Amino acid sequence: MQCPLCGKRKARRSCPAKSAQICGVCCATKREIEIDCPLSCSYLREGYQYAMEKNPLEQRARSMTIDRTFDRGFLLENERFLMELSKGIRECYMSAPQLHDSDIVGAFAALEKTFRTLDTGLYYDTRPEGGLEQILYLKLKESIDLKIQTPDIQGRRLKVSAVIDCLVFMQQFVQMKGSGRPLSRGYLTHLEEVFSHAPQESPSEEPRILLT
Ligand SMILES: [Zn+2]
Repeated sequence: MQCPLCGKRKARRSCPAKSAQICGVCCATKREIEIDCPLSCSYLREGYQYAMEKNPLEQRARSMTIDRTFDRGFLLENERFLMELSKGIRECYMSAPQLHDSDIVGAFAALEKTFRTLDTGLYYDTRPEGGLEQILYLKLKESIDLKIQTPDIQGRRLKVSAVIDCLVFMQQFVQMKGSGRPLSRGYLTHLEEVFSHAPQESPSEEPRILLT
C-alpha cells in the first residue's frame, strides 16, 4: 500500500492522526508540522525519547536563550506552586486534548503580562483573545488569584513577584521540553509521564518532578 501523504513510498506506520497507514519518512518529517500527532502515538513518543537521549535537558537549557537563571533553590522553593500550575495544565489537557505546547506558552505569557501590571499597581487583565489559550489562562488565573488572596496554614501568602518568576520559568520550561515544531506536544508528553509515574501529593526533597 502506498503512503497517502506522499503517494510514493510504502505505508508501514499506523498514523492515529490521519487514521491511515503512512510511510516512515512522512511520519518523521511531517510530524507536528502537518500532522497533528496525539500523545497516544507510539512513534511520537519514541521520537521524543530519542531526542531526549540525544540532547539531554541540561544541554538544551544551555543552548536556549535563557533570560534568567533558575537554579535548584528556585525550584525547591517554588515546587509546590509549579506543580499546581502543571496540574492545572494537565486538567485542561484532559478536557481538551487539542491543546498544544504553544497554547500553554501563550497562556503563560499573557498571565505574566497581567501579573506584572498587578505588581506595578496599574492592573490590566491581558486575556488571550480566544481558543484554548484563553481557557487555560482563565483556569490558571483563577487558581493563582486564590493563592495570592488566601494565606496558607503558616499564614503566608503567595507573593506576586514569586508568581511572575514562576510564570517566566514555565514559559521557558515548556519550550525546552517541546520539539520546536508548530504543533509540538513535547511538554504535554513530559507532563503525562510525570503524572503517570509520580506520587501526586507528596512533596519531594528534590525538584525531580520538573527536571526529569
Ligand atoms: Zn509518505
